[in-house]
Amino acid sequence: MFERILIANRGEIALRIIRAARELGCETVCVFSEADRNGPWLEQADQAICIGPGPSAESYLRIDRIISAAETSHADAIHPGYGFLAENAPFAEVCRDCNIEFIGPSPEAMALLGDKISCKRMAREAGTPIFPGSEEAIEDPDEALQVAREIGFPVIVKAAAGGGGRGMRIARNNDDLVEGLASAAQEAAAAFGNGAVYVEKFLEHARHVEVQCLGDKHGNAVHLYNRDCTSQRRHQKLIEEAPAPGVDPEIRDRVCESAAAMLRNARYSGAATVEFLMDRDQHFYMLEVNTRVQVEHPVTEAVTGVDIVKESIRVAAGAPLSVEQHDIELRGHAIECRVNAEDPDRGFMPQPGLVEQFAIPGGMGVRVDTHVRAGYRIPPNYDSMIGKLIVHAGDRTEAIARMDSAIGEFQIGPIKTTLPLHKRLIAAAPFVEHDFDIHWVERLLEDAAPVAAD
Ligand code: ADP
Repeated sequence: MFERILIANRGEIALRIIRAARELGCETVCVFSEADRNGPWLEQADQAICIGPGPSAESYLRIDRIISAAETSHADAIHPGYGFLAENAPFAEVCRDCNIEFIGPSPEAMALLGDKISCKRMAREAGTPIFPGSEEAIEDPDEALQVAREIGFPVIVKAAAGGGGRGMRIARNNDDLVEGLASAAQEAAAAFGNGAVYVEKFLEHARHVEVQCLGDKHGNAVHLYNRDCTSQRRHQKLIEEAPAPGVDPEIRDRVCESAAAMLRNARYSGAATVEFLMDRDQHFYMLEVNTRVQVEHPVTEAVTGVDIVKESIRVAAGAPLSVEQHDIELRGHAIECRVNAEDPDRGFMPQPGLVEQFAIPGGMGVRVDTHVRAGYRIPPNYDSMIGKLIVHAGDRTEAIARMDSAIGEFQIGPIKTTLPLHKRLIAAAPFVEHDFDIHWVERLLEDAAPVAAD
């Protein structure tokens, strides 16, 4: 096992990693920016090292400073968390060159699965369902038109190196497609330094269903079943749950097993999520693979009892997975609401500033992952998520009731958060009946009057 793990991240995920590392007997070193000087999670680390000013580009994204912090603190491993450098293959490579274990996949596996075109090829080889469309990058408009003729409109042009929804264009006719091909390639080249784009079928009414997987360095890979993350706003997930409701167990198992097979073929080590869109007839189409731990991992931990963060540290240290596929069973239902410091009444405007009141809910099956406490000042520099409220119960109906009760107990002020919106969403008919698609929250927000204040 590692002696000392450096955490190249901040906030709730830094705290989550500290807790896992401590249980495994590892010391922790946190790097932080000047804007995070008073971050409560830093008190929990054995050491904290300032690596630069508030803007991420000058601190949490500075590979040179993170590596020198690891070297001066004699850390033998780095956990990247999510966001920042978590899916940066060159960073994983620098760690390897410096003899520091990157807690995650090899740079080769990350690059293979991180590129959407090579990832699609891997999926096809493993029998993971993919969208019909081009198998290779497309430059020639005639070739794109030919693909569209074969699969039918609407189609979507996507960047091989895409992320954050950039480099995507929906095309409903030939003109759209020719225009979209050029503009997506241009946007992708500017954003990612890689202008390769491809064309696939565009699904109108889809749910987002994803499969959590874990692999080790001994050729093993398992899945931890699926999650539903259909409740989103502008492609940002708001509510996640496990297992995904209303998926036939046979279809679920087949898709989950194909996801694990794909990672096994890629000789993948660590936590990964294979994301899919699912249509109303339960046809699955792979979107992409996230080669890191995800924000929503706790709902899977709740229903499987597997500690995903601890497991990924153990496998990085060379241990085989501590669970085999047949050990993993689903128990009950879990839901997570992301608590964002944003004002849903004012266009989700971020709410940095002093948190004066912060009382978290408790009780059976209630988990709050947060780095915030009363007296903490939220810096304006980073993502607005200030915590996650997770509930676990015997079934989905009970989980919804438990979430409603827990949201009622959660008191945060004077800053505004997304909690009142969550209370509405979990009571709304499309959510209760899981008769929804990835645009349902946006439709509800457009139709409805502003959310009442907390
Ligand atoms: P990124 O890496 O930029 O987030 P994704 O491939 O994950 O890109 O796609 C982002 C979002 O775009 C998806 O969550 C979905 O809402 C939409 N999307 C992507 N591909 C399709 C498709 N083929 N059909 C319908 N929607 C799509």
